[in-house]
Amino acid sequence: MSEVAVALPLESSAESRRKIAFVGSECYPFVKTGGLGDVMYALPRALLREGCEVRVILPLYQCIPQKFTKNLTWKGSFMMDLTLEGRTFFVGIMETEIDGVIYDLIDNKEFFDWGNPYTGLWEDIPKYCYFSKASLAALNYLEWTPDIIHCHDWQASLVPLYQKTRFWGTPVASAKTVLTIHNLRFQGICSIDHLKYWSGLPDYLFNYPELKINDQECNMFKGGLALTDWITTVSETYAEEIQTPAFGEGLDSHLRYHAPKLSGIVNGIDTEIWNPDTDQLLAAPYSAETFLERKILNKRALQESMKLEQNDGHMILGLVSRLTDQKGLDLIDAIFPSLMDGNTQVVVLGTGDPRYESAFQYYESKYPGFVSANITYNEGIAHRIYAGADAFLVPSLFEPCGLTQLIAMRYGTVPIVRETGGLKDTVAPWNAEANEGNGFTFTQYLPGRLLDAVNRAKTLFFTDRWHWDEMVRRTMLKDVSWVKSARQYLDLYDSLCEDEAES
Ligand code: ADP
Repeated sequence: MSEVAVALPLESSAESRRKIAFVGSECYPFVKTGGLGDVMYALPRALLREGCEVRVILPLYQCIPQKFTKNLTWKGSFMMDLTLEGRTFFVGIMETEIDGVIYDLIDNKEFFDWGNPYTGLWEDIPKYCYFSKASLAALNYLEWTPDIIHCHDWQASLVPLYQKTRFWGTPVASAKTVLTIHNLRFQGICSIDHLKYWSGLPDYLFNYPELKINDQECNMFKGGLALTDWITTVSETYAEEIQTPAFGEGLDSHLRYHAPKLSGIVNGIDTEIWNPDTDQLLAAPYSAETFLERKILNKRALQESMKLEQNDGHMILGLVSRLTDQKGLDLIDAIFPSLMDGNTQVVVLGTGDPRYESAFQYYESKYPGFVSANITYNEGIAHRIYAGADAFLVPSLFEPCGLTQLIAMRYGTVPIVRETGGLKDTVAPWNAEANEGNGFTFTQYLPGRLLDAVNRAKTLFFTDRWHWDEMVRRTMLKDVSWVKSARQYLDLYDSLCEDEAES
């Protein structure tokens, strides 16, 4: 956890500060399975710097390490009704503050005592019905009425529905809601009976414009997108892509209908956590000024710890990823033997689909000293790969924003990406004539196209190191922080609140 206090702008008085409540299912450092956890941590901090007051509401899962739970403060508890029958459930609120951001963790052992943090959709649907409703109830209980309730992904997508129905006339109903799509692939689809029972939402919401998708099933994300005041997603390109059948995951027409209230704002990264100059997890911290002498020390340390052949001249390709189809791993699998030229090494870190886990383990045994497959989730190894690798693979089939390419750039590790979603918006392709760009890109989702992009990177790395190093310096200096995007969110919040004031 960072020790650095976040300075507040001097001019922001308590009354004028925008009050923002974040509601989501994961948040670093408590619990993180992917980019959502990073955003739930970093964006509130960036908004705080812009003068907002921010509270983050998340479940108190049992899987949250004790070092974070032992110092929580009990803020109160109450019973809340849920389900069609009106069964009552305990809601406890445990609070902590980190650098000015307040975290309220919702305590209920019946829902949050298993899973990592997710279980399976059947159990997760009741879990997140409860969480969405309890979040609103907790805000009322705490007598903290936000201007904006910013909900994240399907797990928090019932918040706008509860807010506009069961909470109508209560303080929290005055807030505007924003629902951010981090990944449209996961939507919370289940039988109408299951959601009707657990949510206890009014029958009229189980129609086609809101929750219903066919005679038997409904979709929590779809309902949230219909009722929220604004929809954002995490890059401009993904905001366009999800309105097409190829990327819309069955919701493209719904999103086209709601396009007037849809916009894309690209993610940043927390540049304090991801700072190669101060990163204590690295063998040798370095900056854009010192990378030429010092990045190599991290490469050597990585080769040594990963039992790779020690050779400064080899090119290391890094991959830190959930091992799923989304990440374009079938392309990497298809070209793997072609990558192995005796001068190229591959370091993989990830868990997921057993098919990919065993493929990378197989390549490790087939190419000893050249491939390292780390089938685990480990923050420290991730930092060391970002620093020690030369280039970084992100050939995703789709990528709403993608954080790994941003982190790689911050560490001067040149990304090789497919031009989709946020990858397209954040990585400018290398242009030899203009000596511009900060990565290598390809468009068509074909193994040969990825191989071509890797070969272009290899050519520059092995034959024109001066231009390569120039690119490394450029990527390290690129602004990948939250500053610009946090301001865009703030402008959006302001415009929603102004609309309210005018109406
Ligand atoms: P997604 O959210 O789709 O998984 P992102 O690129 O948005 O992908 O975010 C992935 C985040 O998770 C990054 O911070 C990355 O470093 C981290 N990450 C992914 N896999 C691992 C792993 N096995 N060990 C440590 N960190 C990981």
